Amino acid sequence: MIAVVGSLNLDLVTSVPHHPVPGETVLGGDIAQHPGGKGANQAVAAARLGGEVAFVGRVGDDDAAEVMLRAARDQGVDVGHVRRTPATPTGRALIAVSPQGENTIIVSPGANARLTAADCAAAADTLGRARVTVLQQEVPDEANHEAARLSGGTVLYNPAPAVPGAEIPSGVDLLVPNRTELGALAGLATEPVTLDEVASAARRLRGAAAVVVTLGGDGVLLCEGSAHLHIPAFPVTALDTTAAGDSFCGALAVALAEGRPLEDAARFAAAAAAVSTTRPGAQPSLARREEAEALLAG
Ligand code: ADP
Repeated sequence: MIAVVGSLNLDLVTSVPHHPVPGETVLGGDIAQHPGGKGANQAVAAARLGGEVAFVGRVGDDDAAEVMLRAARDQGVDVGHVRRTPATPTGRALIAVSPQGENTIIVSPGANARLTAADCAAAADTLGRARVTVLQQEVPDEANHEAARLSGGTVLYNPAPAVPGAEIPSGVDLLVPNRTELGALAGLATEPVTLDEVASAARRLRGAAAVVVTLGGDGVLLCEGSAHLHIPAFPVTALDTTAAGDSFCGALAVALAEGRPLEDAARFAAAAAAVSTTRPGAQPSLARREEAEALLAG
């Protein structure tokens, strides 16, 4: 079983002719609503690949809570440890997309910001039984620290979004940052670009046995101690890379929970993430098992 502790956001997406400057109002297109949030995306990614997934998180007491819970349940995610928070809105992300495809995103964490260490303690049995626990940075540190402490299996920490000065909880086995997040964690002024720069930044991080750096279309760099291994991206026609990182984390958790070695698990995750880039959106784009396996088999 995989435990995902994290955020649930309802994404509200509209197109804009251009992004407004301060004081400006622009007319956007029709609003589209999609379930999102890094936690929810990673849980759905894992469930769609056949993982048994339990979620620990918080929603508010509004209609968005129903949308988020239904979307997770529909994918087979166990939401028994998702608490409703009275008089609080469910997390939302306000996303504006320009004709050039550039996004501006405002995340209103709402109930996600109210997740506590006690919420994780209430799920101690689930966390203790989990073969893999998956954490990100869209909920308070205290929840992540407690979840890492209570986890009985491998702890996978996706330090996203990048938060300067964020603290990696003790007990993390595997860090999964992208280049920007790795740069922030390593305290670099600019993000590492070349594989050598990425490897040396990963070596600066303490406290995790392995660092798996996702490099977008450049694939993945697996760093353990002083050794590193580059896994190229699977050749696909990428249409929309939204949630590629979430897809990768969910898939990595599934493969690790099945007992696959890290290198195999990372290849499987890269295949699942590549599939997700060929379709638009976040949760709708996530790969099914047979699609990831087909790409892996070549
Ligand atoms: P994030 O969305 O967190 O920034 P990345 O952009 O690094 O994460 O993407 C995560 C993973 O998705 C990559 O390591 C890679 O395996 C896969 N991926 C991303 N973009 C592409 C692409 N253009 N072609 C193939 N695979 C991709």
